[in-house]
Order: sequence, then structure tokens, then C-alpha cells
Amino acid sequence: MSELLDYHLALNDLVETHQPLAGEEEVPLDQLVQRVLARDVQVQYDVPAFDNSSMDGYAINGNSLDRWQVVQRIAAGDEASQALQPGQAARIFTGAPIPAGTTAVLMQESVQVSADAAFIQRDPSHAQDAVPEGLNIRRKAEELQKGHTLLAKHTCITPAAVGLLSAQGYTHAPCVPQVRVTVFSSGNELVEPGQPLQAGKIYDSNREMLMAMLRAEGFEVINGGILPDRLDATRQALEQAAKESHAIICSGGVSVGEEDHLKNALEQVGELTQWRLLIKPGKPFTWGRIGDCRVFMLPGNPVSSLVTFRLLALPALNRMAGLEDAQARPWKLPARADFSRSKVDSRREFLRVVLTAGPDGLRVKPMQQQGSNMLSGAAFATALAEIPPNTSVEEGMALAVYPLGQRF
Ligand code: AMP
Ligand code: MG
Repeated sequence: MSELLDYHLALNDLVETHQPLAGEEEVPLDQLVQRVLARDVQVQYDVPAFDNSSMDGYAINGNSLDRWQVVQRIAAGDEASQALQPGQAARIFTGAPIPAGTTAVLMQESVQVSADAAFIQRDPSHAQDAVPEGLNIRRKAEELQKGHTLLAKHTCITPAAVGLLSAQGYTHAPCVPQVRVTVFSSGNELVEPGQPLQAGKIYDSNREMLMAMLRAEGFEVINGGILPDRLDATRQALEQAAKESHAIICSGGVSVGEEDHLKNALEQVGELTQWRLLIKPGKPFTWGRIGDCRVFMLPGNPVSSLVTFRLLALPALNRMAGLEDAQARPWKLPARADFSRSKVDSRREFLRVVLTAGPDGLRVKPMQQQGSNMLSGAAFATALAEIPPNTSVEEGMALAVYPLGQRF
């Protein structure tokens, strides 16, 4: 248990041993983004619901004719009235239902309209073109068929998926319960922003950073505040939080110093699953549980907190939120080094880097400040780049990168 574990083994273990929260709740459309479906949602209406025009123009009967009599006008929202007879046309607009008898819709740019608007004829520049059967008609059910699956269980809802549900008349969707996470900081040196800063103290950075990432990923967050470097107080706070949340994330106090009480507290009130990984930064990363509440203890250095949150705690939380294995894992892309580095480490390293688009794919440049205490070198990084153990980097070398957000 105290063996240092490789990152990929730790990730596999975390993803496999965390499951979606049981139950489901009906979530309204305006709160659905980032939520995960608890079961399949069906198509309730064919899309399109009726044959309709994809252009502003004229529905015609008779594709080989040159001239048609305009006998009706149909706008979006209207009901189609009578059927077109051969040689007849209807003025029609995008999205309007096409009348029976229609063989094609001509776009308005390709016809000439008589002065009294009673007839249309082909524009001479289009006169030789044969009009294909069904031109510019969107057919009923060509996109979605009633009774089929609209969105599958475990889908994470995007803004477009909200639109899709709304287009089907749904006001709510059945979701996995939202994962509630309590976030603690730990350390006597930490001070809340807004409070005076005495000698030897520092303002807390990790809690706001972790809470911001959790909210951005769709989790419910409880701010647990700052824990003092005392075992009894830490134990009590963890026990209480375990009753109120599905998961706890804390940072600091998980290393080997005698002021580090987090790991001991976890062992006393719950179970410690793993302590320490072969990664840099983030070696002291620890996880376990207190009853059903899952616990992730991140190292105190702010960059170590960031890296272990994104690469380890978040995938486990994503599984609890209902994502399937592959979606829960960090998004991994191939890229090439735009730098060289002779330094090697026996641990797997995750550098803070900036990605740029090159002619042959993504290129990677490291941020200058790579210290695990240097949040300035992470704030504008767009990805983490993985350097395997004992590996020096040569210019052009293939590297795996993990984007830190959607915009890069
Ligand atoms: P620890 O893991 O408690 O030994 O902390 C390692 C380093 O991270 C120390 O320099 C701490 O002061 C710093 N640190 C711990 N927690 C935080 C925090 N929440 N915000 C900023 N720095 C922190
Ligand atoms: Mg500490």
C-alpha cells in the first residue's frame, strides 16, 4: 500500500473503483449543461415533423416545365393548403410545409416572377439545368425517427444537446444526481483573502482554484474552509464533511512532515486506499474513503494540487457524476516537442505547457516557471505534457498532452 504507484495504474484504479451515484433526478433545461443522463432519452417527434422547404422560393409541380402558375403562398408556421396540380407553384419560405404534389422547390434566385406575381419561369441562366426530384425539400423524419434514442445514458449534456431536448418538447431530463464535493485547505500558514496578512502567513490559493475547477466541471461545491495543522480538528472536520458530501477534496498536510496530519486523520476515521505516486509534481497524492464519501488528498504546493486534481481526482469524480470510463479520463492528444530538455527524473513528469498548431499537428512549449510552488507558470498553461520516467526530451519528439480546458 505504501509502494509508490505509476500514474497510469493509479488512474486505472481510480476510474474502475468509482461508480455513478445511484438514483436519478429530473433537471430543468436551464440547469442541464454539464449534467449526465441517468438513462436513454427517446425521440418523441420525427425530425423534421413534416416535409418542408429548405429555401425561400417556389414549390413546383413539374420539374421539366419552364413556367408555373403561382396559386398559393405558404410561410413558416402556416399549414399547407391544397395540393399542387401539374404546372402549378406555391410561393414558399424556409421551414414552411410543402404542399402535396410538390416535385421540387426552386430557390427564388433561380426564377423570374411576372409583374403581377401570378407566374414564375426559370431564370434563363438556369434554363438548361434539369431540376432534380425533391430538390430543396427536407423530408419528414430524415434526421430523427420517433422511438429511436435521442441521447444515450451517460451522455454529458452540451448546449447543443439542451437545444435538441428543447426541440423535442422536453422541459426536463433524467440525470445522475449532482456530486457534492466539500473542499478544504490545510495549514496554519493559510489566510483567507480579505483578511490581514501577518508575518509568515500566505493567502490560500488552492481552495478557490479547486472550487473554480469543480464548478466549471459541473459539480456542486461546499467551501469547507481552512483546517489547522491539528489531528483532532482535522479528523472532526473530515468526519462531518463525509456526512454532508459525496466527496472531499483537501490540499496540503499530506506529506511526511510532523505537521502533516491529513493522512493519519483519514486512516483514523475512514480507509486510506493509496498514498504516494511516482509522479512529479504530486508525489504525496492520496485517496481513500470515509464510509460512502470518497476522499482525495492533494499535495499543498499549488501546482501539485492543480496537476493531481486534473489528472487523478477529476477522472474519479467524473465517474461518480455518471461519465463512462473513456469520457471520465483526461483528454489525451498527440503533440511534438518544440524544445529539448536533458534533465531526467525517475518519476513520470507533467510539465505545464502551451500548445500551438503547427503544420504537422500540435507543438508543445513549456512555461518558464516549472516549480510546483509556482502557480504563475500554470495560470496560462494550456496543457500538461507527459514526460515518461528517465526520459530526456529532444526537439520534435512525440509527447502526450492533456489540455487544461476547451480553449487552447
Ligand atoms: P504541505 O503539503 O502542507 O507541506 O504544503 C506544501 C507547500 O504548499 C507549503 O509551502 C504550503 O505553504 C503550500 N500550501 C499548502 N496549502 C496551500 C494553499 N491552500 N494555498 C497556497 N499554498 C499552500
Ligand atoms: Mg502544511
